[in-house]
Amino acid sequence: MLQTPGMFMRESLAHRPPTLWRYREALGINNPSNTVSLGEGFTPLVDYAVNGQVVLKLDFLCPTGSYKDRGSTVMISKLKEWGVAEIIEDSSGNAGASIAAYASRAGIRANIYVPTSTSAGKIAQIEMYGADLIKVLGSREDTTSAAFDAAQGMFYASHNWSPYFLAGMKTAAYEIAEQLAWKAPDWIVTPVGGGGLLVGLQLGFHDLLAAGFIQRAPRLAAVQASACDPVYRAWRARLEHIPAVDKGPTAAEGISVAKPVHGKAILAAIRESNGIVTTVDDGEVWTALETLGRQGIYVEPTAAAAPAALRKLHQAGIIGRDEGVVVMLTGSGLKATDKIVERQAAQAITYA
Ligand SMILES: *Cc1c(COP(=O)(O)O)cnc(C)c1O
Repeated sequence: MLQTPGMFMRESLAHRPPTLWRYREALGINNPSNTVSLGEGFTPLVDYAVNGQVVLKLDFLCPTGSYKDRGSTVMISKLKEWGVAEIIEDSSGNAGASIAAYASRAGIRANIYVPTSTSAGKIAQIEMYGADLIKVLGSREDTTSAAFDAAQGMFYASHNWSPYFLAGMKTAAYEIAEQLAWKAPDWIVTPVGGGGLLVGLQLGFHDLLAAGFIQRAPRLAAVQASACDPVYRAWRARLEHIPAVDKGPTAAEGISVAKPVHGKAILAAIRESNGIVTTVDDGEVWTALETLGRQGIYVEPTAAAAPAALRKLHQAGIIGRDEGVVVMLTGSGLKATDKIVERQAAQAITYA
């Protein structure tokens, strides 16, 4: 059988371990000895007990507790191939933790910039992985500027900009298709911040269609926080690009991005897939977090935005109860226990 260029063969998969490197032909690493892996990917799909045909993709079970490991394993492998010794990255926390882990494993020195407001669990991880942590007093956007200024002469290994990081995201689509016996679901619901996961899913399903592994791609439901909704606004206004918004505070720190790097590609992916954009407020996020908890699933607030949006899309009849849905659960609750404890304390006072 002829192999699609830059694509894996379905036949090879039976003999490969359950990590995302089973799709290695699609990941652009020339020499397998450069692979920097912690066994990431091939995360479980489990049923979600709601009125509908819904499964949850437990991507927070990747080694550092977020789906960002999909991108980090590929990007850091490429940097190792290139012989890069030191990198700089800015993040709301999860990408920083993930890149810190893979960089250490590859023997690459990492300088990670995060806002001071980042959840304690993510900051602790970055330090434990041995990266140089720089906390920036200011917004997510101020953090990027600080990293940019410091990156003069150093390798800016940005998860938002690297095409290798994006290539890693495609594996989420490959896995979902393989786990569903080479059928795409009707919908995928995913939080959107910088847009890497959404655009990666779209590219991945595109590859699968081109290779003839699936017959149709899923519709993409992009989820934003109502306090920071640049994708939603641009989509509603039928724009081709995404202008920056003035954002407010939100519990969904991982998607608090005022101007997504992948702006045009995000809008194109939503339109091409006949998808939709939904916003959720913090109250809806906390409700979804509790609903998941009662089913044995502990995620961070950002991740709960996706099931919170699904609830609204089901209620509005936009997603039918008979349609097959995969919800991406992107980050572990253990990273945000400080924020969750704060919330519990506030609730206890309210109801005392
Ligand atoms: C980074 C992140 C997102 C947003 O993903 P993008 O690829 O930036 O759109 C969603 N959830 C969590 C937990 C994240 O860390």
